[in-house]
Amino acid sequence: MHFHDSMISLVGNTPLVRLNHVTTSTQATVLAKVEYFNPGGSVKDRIALRMIEAAEQSGALRPGGTIVEPTSGNTGVGLAIVAQQKGYRCVFVCPDKVSLDKINVLRAYGAEVVVCPTAVDPEHPDSYYNVSDRLVRETPGAWKPNQYSNPHNPLSHYHSTGPELWQQTEGRITHFVAGVGTGGTISGTGRYLKEVSEGRVRVIGADPEGSVYSGGSGRPYLVEGVGEDFWPEAYDRTIADEVVAVSDKDSFQMTRRLAREEGLLVGGSCGMAVVAALKVAQGLGPDDVVVVLLPDSGRGYLSKIFNDEWMNDYGFLEEGGEQPRVGDVL
Ligand code: PMP
Repeated sequence: MHFHDSMISLVGNTPLVRLNHVTTSTQATVLAKVEYFNPGGSVKDRIALRMIEAAEQSGALRPGGTIVEPTSGNTGVGLAIVAQQKGYRCVFVCPDKVSLDKINVLRAYGAEVVVCPTAVDPEHPDSYYNVSDRLVRETPGAWKPNQYSNPHNPLSHYHSTGPELWQQTEGRITHFVAGVGTGGTISGTGRYLKEVSEGRVRVIGADPEGSVYSGGSGRPYLVEGVGEDFWPEAYDRTIADEVVAVSDKDSFQMTRRLAREEGLLVGGSCGMAVVAALKVAQGLGPDDVVVVLLPDSGRGYLSKIFNDEWMNDYGFLEEGGEQPRVGDVL
């Protein structure tokens, strides 16, 4: 019989898929690492599993304990799945810019969710960082994974995403492009790829315009899951050779193209990473292999990026991007 013991054993080993239609301006091969094939639908299942197992081993998380984490959704889903299978309770704290779709998913997996305002400083008592700290203090048996400083976040990528990419490309990968949120993906995957290739692989971060990684001050942007207004410990500043800033508009227009032209219904940070990857790929030759990591699925953004009205409200559909809608007089 062929079966898995539980959904946990399906984490990782995601496919690499060539981009064929958005890549007209390059001779290089551009491959997407499609992380929505993880059981929770995002790259964050990888870090959830490793952070929980490490906490069990260190004794920080004990049987019957509660996991408390500030998360924009994807890390929560990964933690919720691993936690329910292992018998832990989950309480998540989210900023209010996160789609209601994402919050409902967390609740569907049995987690509790507390929503906090986005428009306050990280030091403010109502910021999602501070609310989660308070919940940890007040809940007996609570453990906070803290994906922003937990070394097992980048380590999960060092031990899974990095080796997978090296094997899948048979060592031919020349460039790795990933969006930067906590920095775990780029730091862990990038460190592995640099070590195994003896420094040959170039690592490129993709960042929303205004975020600190590309030289901004943390000005608000709408793309979710990436960009920061502080420097997390999970981000190793020595790994990325370059960080490319991408606007919300370019990110979302590319996200819609990926669904229509490549059959990839993915999230906004994926469109952002692909814009950066295509910038990097421009001028590269036929022997170059650019891998871009796509963190999650587009299902959580149907009422935003894939909704013409929402896109129009922000002016994101200008310059020929707008499609006629049912009911429009043509
Ligand atoms: N995209 C999305 C949708 C995410 O949820 C995250 C994680 N915050 C990222 C990209 C960035 O990944 P990382 O935290 O590893 O830098």
